[in-house]
Amino acid sequence: MTTTAPETTLIGHWVDGAPSPVDAARTAPVYNPATGGEIARVALADAAEIDAAVASAVAAQQSWGALSTGKRAAVLFRFRELLAAHADELAGVISREHGKVISDARGEVARGLEVVEYACGLPQLLKGELSDEAATGIEVFTTREPLGVVVGITPFNFPAMVPLWMSPMAIATGNAFILKPSERDPSAANVLAQLWPQAGLPDGVFTVLHGDKDAVTALIEHADVAAVSFVGSTPIARYVHATASAAGKRVQALGGAKNHGVILADADLEDAADHLTAAAYGSAGERCMALSVAVVAEEVADELVALLAERARAVRVAPGDQPDADMGPVITAAAKERIEGLIGSAEREGASLVVDGRGLQVDGHEEGFFVGPTLIDNVAVEHEVYREEVFGPVLDIVRVSGLDEAIELVNANPYGNGTAIFTSSGAAAREYRRRVTVGMVGVNVPIPVPVAWHSFGGWKDSLFGDSPIYGPEGINFYTRPKVTTQRWPARKVAASFHFSGDGEK
Ligand code: NAD
Repeated sequence: MTTTAPETTLIGHWVDGAPSPVDAARTAPVYNPATGGEIARVALADAAEIDAAVASAVAAQQSWGALSTGKRAAVLFRFRELLAAHADELAGVISREHGKVISDARGEVARGLEVVEYACGLPQLLKGELSDEAATGIEVFTTREPLGVVVGITPFNFPAMVPLWMSPMAIATGNAFILKPSERDPSAANVLAQLWPQAGLPDGVFTVLHGDKDAVTALIEHADVAAVSFVGSTPIARYVHATASAAGKRVQALGGAKNHGVILADADLEDAADHLTAAAYGSAGERCMALSVAVVAEEVADELVALLAERARAVRVAPGDQPDADMGPVITAAAKERIEGLIGSAEREGASLVVDGRGLQVDGHEEGFFVGPTLIDNVAVEHEVYREEVFGPVLDIVRVSGLDEAIELVNANPYGNGTAIFTSSGAAAREYRRRVTVGMVGVNVPIPVPVAWHSFGGWKDSLFGDSPIYGPEGINFYTRPKVTTQRWPARKVAASFHFSGDGEK
């Protein structure tokens, strides 16, 4: 069986372990961002399709959740092998609809694989806790049980990795998982859907429902959905968190970001410039952990800006499938227009445009959604380009006097996803790490996405619902604890009218 993206121009849902008939009344366009051309349409699920998919997931979860942890882990191990074997193919599918370069698409599959590998350790992760002889003749133990049917709603920028942050964790812990991927690059989800049955996952445990905001609202309010994982922009994360919470669901909703890289005067500037360039312009800046603001100590700012400008001009912008491309197009024509508008606003508001990526033409791809690397100096916190999450290849330079002012600036920002500090001082790095109100911190590491056995999550407007994703927090999110207090007495134990206290121990 091949796992390439469907050849049809209509991308359909995946329900009950098989592709659904593709005769949708409502569809949305899917573009190749490098050419600007429509390459497919994706079905948008209606209420009846959603009800049928949830019903299939409810039925499948009953027996899947009751299976031994060893048997569930065996499916995860097989899925891991299949995913690794199909990584290149999946990277091609991602690049075609998203626009990112193939090596970066392979990277996102690799990070997803890491989560699958973590989930393979399920028997160990779910072994629970036991207090032997907690009172005389009594043991108390905690087991963790699946929630039921859980939903994952994912953004366009990591069409394989973010679904893989959620689904292996949810499935390993005994839940049925319904994925509602981004309608802008939907095919990666269907590739994953094709692999699960080959790994031996029972039909209905992994479902893909394509759709837009109507599908999201129907899913997060559905009576038979127990929990919602969302990753996307802050306004939608806030809405999903409020709506699903009001409907009684457990919710984790990861939102947008404005990630600051702080460059102190004692940093290795060449090294910092290399890392900032890659972290600002990689994947055309469409990463929730992209460094979009460099907070630079005034005394080295001119030197660093010169190094950054040189590097920004050297970035090779080309379609993602070209082997020497550093950076591809942005996702849609609307995204390009918005990003270029924000660059224009910076110029109007008094910032200095050092490298201007507007109007970039890529030979043979004149209709593609390309924006060139952009470097803006003397940005102030009042500027729109600073206040907005640009989500494009734009790096702002904000000049500060030193560490204290840098910390104040970063902490005043409403977002708190990731941050990095470049310095040769361990003491300064330690102080920054301890005082900064951001969930993930890099020390001389530009994009500190945690490995799969830690958990991923920002603070403030970058995460609603308190629960970070994957890793140990993922296990907790997708299970609920049950505590059993048991006694198997050799002889009769006297009943007591008072609540058990020290006397009974
Ligand atoms: P988005 O919020 O537009 O869409 C995310 C999901 O929500 C999609 O599945 C989409 O179909 C759905 N959606 C869109 N509009 C909706 C509405 N009005 N009501 C209900 N659902 C709706 O995000 P995007 O543009 O696909 O992705 C980029 C955003 O995601 C950026 O803000 C980025 O920072 C963020 N992101 C955050 C993380 C993180 O871990 N914090 C990771 C990746 C991306």
